[in-house]
Amino acid sequence: MGKVTGFLEFGRVEEAYEAKDQRKKHYREFIPPLSDEQAKIQGARCMDCGIPFCMSGCPVNNIIPDWNDLVYRQEWQAAIATLHSTNNFPDFTGRICPAPCEEACVLRINADAVGIKSIEHAIVDKAWESGWIKPQPPAHKSGKRVSIVGSGPAGLACAQQLARAGHDVVVFERNDRIGGLLRYGIPDFKLEKWHIDRRMEQMAVEGVSFRTGVHIGNQRPGKGVPDWATGTIAPRKLLAEFDAVVLAGGAEQPRDLPVPGRDLDGVHFAMEFLPLQNKRVAGDAGVPDLWATDKHVIVIGGGDTGSDCVGTSNRHGAKSITQFELLPMPPDVERNPVWPYWPTRLRTSSSHEEGAQRDWSVATKAFIGENGKVKSLQAVRLEWKDGKMSEVAGSEFTLPADLVLLAMGFVSPVQSVLEAFSVEKDSRGNAKAATEGQGCYATSVPKVFAAGDMRRGQSLVVWAIREGRQCARAVDESLMGSSELPR
Ligand SMILES: Cc1cc2nc3c(=O)[nH]c(=O)nc-3n(C[C@H](O)[C@H](O)[C@H](O)COP(=O)(O)OP(=O)(O)OC[C@H]3O[C@@H](n4cnc5c(N)ncnc54)[C@H](O)[C@@H]3O)c2cc1C
Ligand code: SF4
Repeated sequence: MGKVTGFLEFGRVEEAYEAKDQRKKHYREFIPPLSDEQAKIQGARCMDCGIPFCMSGCPVNNIIPDWNDLVYRQEWQAAIATLHSTNNFPDFTGRICPAPCEEACVLRINADAVGIKSIEHAIVDKAWESGWIKPQPPAHKSGKRVSIVGSGPAGLACAQQLARAGHDVVVFERNDRIGGLLRYGIPDFKLEKWHIDRRMEQMAVEGVSFRTGVHIGNQRPGKGVPDWATGTIAPRKLLAEFDAVVLAGGAEQPRDLPVPGRDLDGVHFAMEFLPLQNKRVAGDAGVPDLWATDKHVIVIGGGDTGSDCVGTSNRHGAKSITQFELLPMPPDVERNPVWPYWPTRLRTSSSHEEGAQRDWSVATKAFIGENGKVKSLQAVRLEWKDGKMSEVAGSEFTLPADLVLLAMGFVSPVQSVLEAFSVEKDSRGNAKAATEGQGCYATSVPKVFAAGDMRRGQSLVVWAIREGRQCARAVDESLMGSSELPR
């Protein structure tokens, strides 16, 4: 339980961020993990509250109080074993999880939460450095073959679990590298990509094969969805060759803004912009020329994707960056008003801190261009009453805009992929599959399962890992009659 009086003695220690002006000059991560001593003090703040709400706040139910205690005692090897017992990839979540666990921490009722995510980060980095993370190939092979469509965190977690259960697993990925949004979407300054490569090496030894550049389906996805496939495989071929198929293709269909001027040059989906920067950092040649350099950039959408567009535009050297959100500005409260649940409150990311004008309750009415290129944006202020919005008369305004990035979320998975497999969809257009009970994660089509954003809609990396793990157990059960994989 850490130190009995730790939460009274020690304050929360934040990870040290590299200074804004320095980190804006590069695309590398800028948050080093806590030192052993800092992590020990942070672990000491865990107060053995009795009912660890943090564990239910964490979608993979990480056994947080146990590894807090182990870090306090400096038993790091036991800490990583405990962390890995619920989470395949703490190296990803320790960097980019928004840490709903910390909102649920009991200490957060009247003080600062334990820095759970920073402890997770410290444990996994130390474990890699110390050589404690090794492949875990299965003792026996099952002779069963499973294919996974999509290599994001859901597909990777599912693949790792199934390979450890002895199945031969092949991960098919449309793009030219493995990782889903971890690779193409999330900027390198939040997650450097060698973390994914290192996990791929581990998984290859465990029995996972990776096939990139292959689109599974009958029809290619279309505008706003990254697609570097060089070949296509029809679903019926996969169904014929594998004992089970897991659909883990994400929720890639971006929400559009069909206002006048949408077709002008310079108005792009965020996912037409962000992956290009990932490719440049990876050293690829011939990356299309879409930059924010010396431009007035307007990001439409106030979430994670928008924030990543802000951070990337700042690194490009944009002239100005404005971020619009349709909803009103949430309250900037210090404590969690709905503890232990996830509150709606103002969140300022490290990218926002690097510089951007944020504006709430704004609706974009039109893009204005010259010679086919966007030059400005017309917008209007909104008033919100009882959850309904109306335009404020006379509040129209115009801003210069050379690059507009649409980051208004994702409506669903690419429908043609689900249709190619003939799986039933839910009311939001996701693959329909239950998460509890007999036949969980199974779709309406025999042998076909679904997990991650493709099943639940746009979500988080940690939810994708949870679904990948749980889906792996469901697949294992269906193939073998029972499963020893953890849920
Ligand atoms: C810009 C951005 C930033 C984000 N930042 C964060 C963050 O900081 N923290 C966080 O927790 N979450 C973040 N998210 C959300 C998070 O990335 C997703 O919830 C998560 O990656 C979903 O995982 P997944 O495995 O279900 O799908 P994805 O990661 O979307 O992976 C799906 C993969 O399947 C492939 N695929 C799809 N269809 C096919 C097909 N037919 N054939 C072959 N391959 C196919 C796609 O190419 C893709 O690589 C962010 C999302 C975006 C867009
Ligand atoms: S995975 Fe996310 S929610 Fe779970 S312990 Fe880590 S930071 Fe917290």
